[in-house]
Amino acid sequence: MTARQIDGKQIAADLRAAIALGVDELEEAHRVTPGLAVVLVGEDPASQVYVRNKGKATLEAGMKSFEHKLPATTTQAELLEIVQRLNADDSIDGILVQLPLPKHIDASAVLDAIHPDKDVDGFHPINAGRLAIGRPGLVPCTPSGSMRLIRSVEPKLAGKHAVVIGRSNIVGKPMGQLLLAADCTVTIAHSKTADLPAMARQADILIAAVGRPEMVTGDWVKQGAIVIDVGINRVPAAEGKTKLVGDVQYASAAAKAGAITPVPGGVGPMTIACLLENTLRAAKLRRGIKL
Ligand code: NDP
Repeated sequence: MTARQIDGKQIAADLRAAIALGVDELEEAHRVTPGLAVVLVGEDPASQVYVRNKGKATLEAGMKSFEHKLPATTTQAELLEIVQRLNADDSIDGILVQLPLPKHIDASAVLDAIHPDKDVDGFHPINAGRLAIGRPGLVPCTPSGSMRLIRSVEPKLAGKHAVVIGRSNIVGKPMGQLLLAADCTVTIAHSKTADLPAMARQADILIAAVGRPEMVTGDWVKQGAIVIDVGINRVPAAEGKTKLVGDVQYASAAAKAGAITPVPGGVGPMTIACLLENTLRAAKLRRGIKL
């Protein structure tokens, strides 16, 4: 079998177009333009690119974008003060503090300070709790984008066995919760899982969120499975250059899978689209407007 490639770029573009329509409707009906504030501390080059892309996408969706670029010497107290100001600012619906933060700042303390109703990354313990017990809230963007990709090839998820490799708070755990809410039988695997390839081979839906370049090979994949590659790894390429690869070895996995996401062009574009979706959702939830 040669897998169908799941086109995350196209699905994300469609979602962003739908969000832009939703923003227009919100403006017409309620005179509200959602606003997203992104806070960047320091000069990490990858983070600078992410923040620039998020700002651009926010404006393209018709929302207001606010960027706060702070020096690497910013203290935790100063950062917390900015977060509190954004919490109190009625023109801001979503607050995102770009990670990683400099080492002298406790990231958990900062993320916990974001008001849960403006927590568009979905990392606040209240939103993690809401997701765990099935209450409405804001869900982390990468897992919710991955769910959309899965549903694009298989709308009927009940009873499927999903194996998620990775148990981080931002990807693996919320991914497991979303699949469970969709009535899958979920296994969350990690670095201590015994015989991981055998576990992976049981999966109707296999999610790799590990951070190890091309760890998942074709012989880990059940015939016809849906494979979602969350990994983004920069590895050396020819002529001293680098390239991006996922956690899945694409060619061998695609020979077994029914559908598979590429890297780049799979999960990555969905993450920003779902951030915009969360911002629109937050703008409505905060004002009691029907979703
Ligand atoms: P973390 O490093 O926080 O978590 C990695 C997880 O993988 C851990 O649970 C770890 O297990 C597990 N793991 C590590 N090595 C192995 C192994 N050899 N066998 C089995 N499990 C293993 O990473 P993230 O969850 O933040 O990110 C995962 C990947 O997704 C990364 O490549 C990251 O770049 C990418 N990513 C992509 C995004 C996107 O937009 N596409 C967004 C966010 C992340 P243990 O808990 O036991 O240590």
